[in-house]
Amino acid sequence: MDLNMEGQSVTWDLADLYPTPGDPAWADDLDRGVARARRFQASYKGIDLSLLSPAAFFQALKEYESIQEEGVKPFLYASLLFSEDSQNTEYKTLLQKAKEQWNELENHLLFFRLALIGLSEDKIEEILSDLSLKDYGHALQFLRRFRAFTRSEKEEEILSRKNLTGRSAFTTLFDEFTGAFSFRLEVEGEEKEFTASQMLSLLYASDRSLRERAFRTFLQRHKENQLVLGTILNALIFDAQVEDDLRGYQGPMHRIHLENEILPETVELMMEVTEAHYPLAQEYFQVKACLLGLPKLKNYDLYAPLPSSPRKIPFEEARGLLLQSFQGFHPLFGRIAGEFFENRWIDAPPRKGKYGGAFCSGMTPSLHPYLLLNYSGNLRDVLTLAHEMGHGIHFYLARKQTLMNFDPPLTLAETASVFGELVMAQALLQEERDLGVRLALLCIKIEDMIATIFRQNVLTRFEQQAYQWRRNHLLTDEEICDLWWEANAKLFGDSVEMIPEYRWGWSYISHFIHSRFYCYSYIFGELVSLALFQKYEEEGPFFLNRLIRLLERGGSGSPHDLLKDAGVDIERADFWQKGFRVIRQLIDELKSLGPWDKICVGPSK
Ligand SMILES: [Zn+2]
Repeated sequence: MDLNMEGQSVTWDLADLYPTPGDPAWADDLDRGVARARRFQASYKGIDLSLLSPAAFFQALKEYESIQEEGVKPFLYASLLFSEDSQNTEYKTLLQKAKEQWNELENHLLFFRLALIGLSEDKIEEILSDLSLKDYGHALQFLRRFRAFTRSEKEEEILSRKNLTGRSAFTTLFDEFTGAFSFRLEVEGEEKEFTASQMLSLLYASDRSLRERAFRTFLQRHKENQLVLGTILNALIFDAQVEDDLRGYQGPMHRIHLENEILPETVELMMEVTEAHYPLAQEYFQVKACLLGLPKLKNYDLYAPLPSSPRKIPFEEARGLLLQSFQGFHPLFGRIAGEFFENRWIDAPPRKGKYGGAFCSGMTPSLHPYLLLNYSGNLRDVLTLAHEMGHGIHFYLARKQTLMNFDPPLTLAETASVFGELVMAQALLQEERDLGVRLALLCIKIEDMIATIFRQNVLTRFEQQAYQWRRNHLLTDEEICDLWWEANAKLFGDSVEMIPEYRWGWSYISHFIHSRFYCYSYIFGELVSLALFQKYEEEGPFFLNRLIRLLERGGSGSPHDLLKDAGVDIERADFWQKGFRVIRQLIDELKSLGPWDKICVGPSK
């Protein structure tokens, strides 16, 4: 199996940004951005914003947005180049230069953000009573939430500058260090070299011994590098604690909750309801063991394909499936997805040095989004494509907003993506007649939900524990491994046996490095999406207009308000239960596809 075969020629075209990496326009844009920011600072610094007329205030906001939107373009370009090949020294240099210049640009604008945060409630009321400023209501109210935790301009500037050699240096070290890992494995009698993401994709291989060797080898390499990986995690947790203390945040999740505009008790309730449903996941793991003919799963079996589903889907076929299902869902979804393929906004094949996994870069309102995949042709890769395309469509629709209202809140950022996956999975299930493939699809969908809801709950619980323990002392590698092991053991119970090397499973999760406590937004996003999907099935086309409107609104409101407009009330006690009923139904549907004595080729439980 050559993992590089699928979608090999589907690479993105970044010429919409700059013709080539060496184009002089790139450096000119960087310089112009900083110069504009400097002029803006000279014009407005020291001016009391509350004395500006609404028209003058509007003009200042527009200029502030415009400087950032144009100034970030060279940085986004360098980031995309670097993500497609982190070993390329030219790209590395470009990204470093862009980071430094972007940081300088932001430093010149920092005073304005602080002035906005410092505006009095009365002034905000007055500003918002002016029609032209109405659209900035949520953004201004949002900034105000951080008033108590924002320090003086000089202190903010010091923090920001020191981050370049602090937090940012550690995340860069993690990316470059782990990005350079390559692994040698014998496959079908031949020794081959694999990237990290290719190694993880071998967990989807049908050959059990290959899955086992791949996972053990992958984790072993991380264990061998414990000195670096443990130090990075310790440093980042401690850095976050120091900064939280300096700012006055109450605990490691406080800032994240404020940014997400979600109440801590809502998140805790969601996580507790999720934990109460761990037995549902365990029930599935037992069914899966039966389907694989195993007495019990080991954790390199979780994503194994069923014996009857060796189906490989070339990228072209996935493209066709996606366009058909999205078009059937809503013509707008179909049309936008078509643009991604036609205009080459997608980079599909895995390559050495390329980022692992998949992402959608939302860019800015004036630039279209890009998708990065590591497409290797599994059924699951088709769903990942639909997932990232959902993100892409969300950003595409949100381009109606200005920059300050563009990015959806983190907790809704996954809504369209999960929706895209559901649409794709449903269309596939409806069309597929082959029992083996139907079983496989149901398994994949359930496994995705387990990965998005239950696993993210485990990740978040681990993170909470790690932050709590780090308060007292530096975490030893063994302690980190113990916390990780315990959090996972709660989910797996007796239904899955973890291999000893899995103690190092925490060390490759990039969310812990790049964006602490990000993972709970996956749980939130998935459960909200399932609720929205139920509404869609109940209400039909009428609901789709509400969904499109929700996506178009980007980040122009709080999750609570945006969802309320779409007819979902997250304060309701039974809300979080809804998603689990969908998973229950899928497991029942899977079980109903018997007769089990024929499907289960090995001893069943
Ligand atoms: Zn996503």
